[in-house]
Amino acid sequence: MKDIKNYTLNELGNILERERYPAFCAKQIFSWVYKRNIDDFSKMSDLSKAARQYLKSNFYISSLKTLERKVSVDGTEKFLFALDDKNTIETVIIPKGNRNTLCVSTQVGCRYGCKFCVSGLFGFKRNLKVSEIINQFIKINSIIIPKAITNVVFMGIGEPLDNFDNVIKSISIMTSPFGIHFGRRRITISTCGITPKVKELLNMDFGVKLSISLHSADNRKRSLLMPVNKLYPLAGLIDQAKRYAKKYRFPVTFEYILIKDINSKREDALNLSRMLRGLRYKINIIPYNPAPAFKWQVPSFYDINSFTKILKRKGVFFTLRRPRGQDIEAACGQLRIAMMKNEKRV
Ligand code: SF4
Repeated sequence: MKDIKNYTLNELGNILERERYPAFCAKQIFSWVYKRNIDDFSKMSDLSKAARQYLKSNFYISSLKTLERKVSVDGTEKFLFALDDKNTIETVIIPKGNRNTLCVSTQVGCRYGCKFCVSGLFGFKRNLKVSEIINQFIKINSIIIPKAITNVVFMGIGEPLDNFDNVIKSISIMTSPFGIHFGRRRITISTCGITPKVKELLNMDFGVKLSISLHSADNRKRSLLMPVNKLYPLAGLIDQAKRYAKKYRFPVTFEYILIKDINSKREDALNLSRMLRGLRYKINIIPYNPAPAFKWQVPSFYDINSFTKILKRKGVFFTLRRPRGQDIEAACGQLRIAMMKNEKRV
């Protein structure tokens, strides 16, 4: 049996055609599954009896099981979901004004081991399937009714560009007019900087937004924080970011976690302002959110002020963000790790 949510509209149409069912059945199935949230083929009343029987004998419709739900005082909600193979993933919904931003996971664990991120602490286990990505959207959208998801960021556990095909397929389902019909420009893929994959995304004409975890404009410091930088140093990455912004005429977003004495000094601000020259960008400065696994320190008010003052003087437009959901371990991967620790204790 195959999970029907692993297939894009085209793939499903091809399968049905091979079985001598009309390809437009795929559109009807998409509409039942993604627009009406129906999880039973026998309820798909506009399909022929034979088609319904074929689907029942060959496919199933998956969903996610919620293990834990935590709500922060700032409204951020974090969910721990169980997968069929007993692995777990986290998904976060962040409300702000009229926006409800969904932060989606794409892998179980992560192989990139950034030195401030708990998601990479236990290494990489596996890629999420298309269905496991899309089900995060469907599940949370149904939980937050009457509100609805307004934006999606691929910024949860895992590196989205390391699970490229499944991420692209899940976005194609999200944006299909017969599926969820979610706007591409409301979707952001966030990467630690896998330059060849950024290039591939750029060449696909896919039109989603791009965000880059930057954290330093100096190769030596960035490699210390993000080992991926040794493989794909800044020059090539920033070149692709420039091309991306130019092609789509929207800014590339950079995330910069400000860590005391590491990347928060005067020279760091100056390097950053130089690097951003000639780029269409947005940059979020985020004071470090402490996690017990790391030795880094939170920058003081004075550190933050001095750093941002230099940026202002150099004409850098930035947003100073506060970490969300600190009281519910909302930093990416923390809930999953707490659960793994509990399991070990048992
Ligand atoms: S920041 Fe992203 S790429 Fe780096 S370890 Fe965490 S999940 Fe992986």
